[in-house]
Amino acid sequence: MNENDKKSIIAENLVKIKQTIALAAEKSGRNPKDITLVAVTKTIEPQYLIEAQKLGINHFGENRAQEMLTKMQSLENNPEFSSKDAQWHMIGHIQRNKIKMIADKVSMIHSLDSFRLAEEIGKFAKSREIIVDVLIEINIANEPSKFGISPMDAVEFAATLQKLENIRLRGLMCVAPYVEIAERNRIYFQLMSEIMLDIKRNVPHNEYMTVLSMGMTNDYEIAIEEGAGVIRIGTGLFGGRL
Ligand SMILES: *Cc1c(COP(=O)(O)O)cnc(C)c1O
Repeated sequence: MNENDKKSIIAENLVKIKQTIALAAEKSGRNPKDITLVAVTKTIEPQYLIEAQKLGINHFGENRAQEMLTKMQSLENNPEFSSKDAQWHMIGHIQRNKIKMIADKVSMIHSLDSFRLAEEIGKFAKSREIIVDVLIEINIANEPSKFGISPMDAVEFAATLQKLENIRLRGLMCVAPYVEIAERNRIYFQLMSEIMLDIKRNVPHNEYMTVLSMGMTNDYEIAIEEGAGVIRIGTGLFGGRL
């Protein structure tokens, strides 16, 4: 596939995604404007981020610190890309020693999955005099292969974050199981909404907690119906990882 073909495929995919978002929002009585699309750009070359931005996308998700940083830097001096408008989301498991690489450059860390990581983010943020927005990653189906806080421990974990300065808890994130039939993940998205409510009821100072980051290429339609405010789409937008 040549570059121009790939670019037009991204444009076509985006039209379909927007239609699906609109339908799912309508079905559940929500405003499509309340749903943010994060384009997941792991393994995607910078030129296609430029293309995505031309199509109006300004949220980019990466799952590795080094790849994110390299991509940011390669786009920084590209006149075709507006770094000022781009918002970067860390969506993958991140080691504590990589926090300083990205924490002051991202708009949100979706993958807060341990207290020690939270401490590290807090320490770094304090040293830079910044506030870092985070989501707690929930291992919603308790899958051994996945990172995240167990649903059972979520409220207590959210409460412990209150001890930390310079971290702002904005909500929850999950990677639902891989399923052939997206409908099967509905229960997990419902559970995410319930956990969010639970935290809001039981943990004080949660006024910034508004974000549910859930739903990927296979299941974002269902996630939106169950309250997703941020969906993260990779293959559905860019095609298979090339
Ligand atoms: C890769 C990835 C996505 C996007 O997955 P697709 O199925 O390609 O849409 C979303 N969230 C996380 C955390 C990912 O690692």
